[in-house]
Amino acid sequence: MKARIAIVGGGVMGVAIALEAALRARQGEESVVLLERTTLAAGSSGRSGAILRQHYSQRVVAAMARDSLRAYAGFHARTGRWIGFQRCGVLTIAGPAQPEEVALVERNIEMQRSIGIDTRRIEAREIRALVPGISVDDGAIAAYEPGGGFVDPVRTVEAFAALARTRGAITRLGVAATGFAVERGRVRGVRTEEGLVEAEQVVVAAGPWTRRLLLTAGIDLPLTAVRPEQHFLAMPGPTAAGGRALGLEPSFEQAPLPPQVDADPRFSVDAEGEPPAAHPVLLDLEHGFYTRCEPGSGRTRVGKMDYHGAEVLEDPDLLDEQVRPGFVRWAREALAARLPVYERQRDAGSLAGWYTLTPDAQAIIGAVPQVEGLLVVSGFSGHGFKLAPSIGEGVAQLLFGEPVTAFEPEFFSPLRFAGAQAPSSAKAFGL
Ligand SMILES: Cc1cc2nc3c(=O)[nH]c(=O)nc-3n(C[C@H](O)[C@H](O)[C@H](O)COP(=O)(O)OP(=O)(O)OC[C@H]3O[C@@H](n4cnc5c(N)ncnc54)[C@H](O)[C@@H]3O)c2cc1C
Repeated sequence: MKARIAIVGGGVMGVAIALEAALRARQGEESVVLLERTTLAAGSSGRSGAILRQHYSQRVVAAMARDSLRAYAGFHARTGRWIGFQRCGVLTIAGPAQPEEVALVERNIEMQRSIGIDTRRIEAREIRALVPGISVDDGAIAAYEPGGGFVDPVRTVEAFAALARTRGAITRLGVAATGFAVERGRVRGVRTEEGLVEAEQVVVAAGPWTRRLLLTAGIDLPLTAVRPEQHFLAMPGPTAAGGRALGLEPSFEQAPLPPQVDADPRFSVDAEGEPPAAHPVLLDLEHGFYTRCEPGSGRTRVGKMDYHGAEVLEDPDLLDEQVRPGFVRWAREALAARLPVYERQRDAGSLAGWYTLTPDAQAIIGAVPQVEGLLVVSGFSGHGFKLAPSIGEGVAQLLFGEPVTAFEPEFFSPLRFAGAQAPSSAKAFGL
């Protein structure tokens, strides 16, 4: 089989790149092939919270989150495909005893507003008005992004892949890449269990398996797979929340939307019969958790805001799916400390997954110097889903030799770790 571009990995990055590459390819002449060893969204993407926040400390990443949110929000209107987008708002909360976190959140808000992100500083009183029943001490503050929310990760991956196929891309599922064909320093294709897929350019977007695959070509990048755990509680409904669904108070429903969102006809709430989220997404720097409702399954997800010290997976295939009871206890307590309605909610499952970390908690994207035509897209450090539309566009721009406008390639360059003393205490999730 021959292709102009071969992409390894059918997670959100692989399919986003396939879609943008297929949009640029001359139909019938230049083909895009995606190889996925099992099924689409089998890796981190399928287990993702897929929270869409724009609250970042780095301007370049915040700008990508802004642009990608716009792409996700308008996806249904543009394509007719449903990805479960809900604009429930995102709150990043810092407590009164956290002066450093309060200052960080305030600095971030200022920077984000300077690049057109609709976010604002709100105080404890306003947080309580926005999320009835929430427990916040006076002196707490939050960054409030009314336009943020989440998508359904599996539907999103499937929708991107389906669109890519309508533009001529081929997705080959159940085909594992085993290595690369390289001639005179240039990539000639991907070796698979079913033979060689010849390609002029190869993109490795294999999530936590990326390091292992690149090692077959003698390329060693600082990618570490760790095992985050998540717990779920039943999402509160009208009864559990004392006669009213949490967050469906008029004060929340009527939270004003940013002007550019109202004016943009592509911006839509895309829930297709699903109940709305019971409350906004919370990133809780005080209690150290994040949470988001998953209305499709009637559950609310809780994860840790930190992954330093998380269990390292030498072999991503050996993921222990059994979530530790200590984590379940912690998740219940942390969530109920902020939203007491959850004290009465039943457990609704747990999951373990993979984050692929880099030393500075930012992805590695771009051509590797050792093999011409070979690109890597990995290391999203637990916060990549929200950025996928920008990644897809920017990587396609790289592949087609266009000026890269979707992100700053130097920021993500694989070369940034070469010989350097890589920072090891980067803030988790780029906060
Ligand atoms: C529990 C959890 C919660 C998260 N929450 C959020 C969130 O709220 N917001 C956010 O923005 N991000 C979040 N993330 C992070 C986000 O999901 C990831 O950054 C993103 O999904 C990474 O996508 P990917 O395509 O790079 O990798 P993956 O989704 O892991 O995809 C890699 C694919 O490559 C395939 N593959 C591997 N080896 C081969 C091979 N040899 N040949 C062919 N195919 C191969 C795998 O089967 C897999 O399908 C979360 C992640 C997890 C695990």
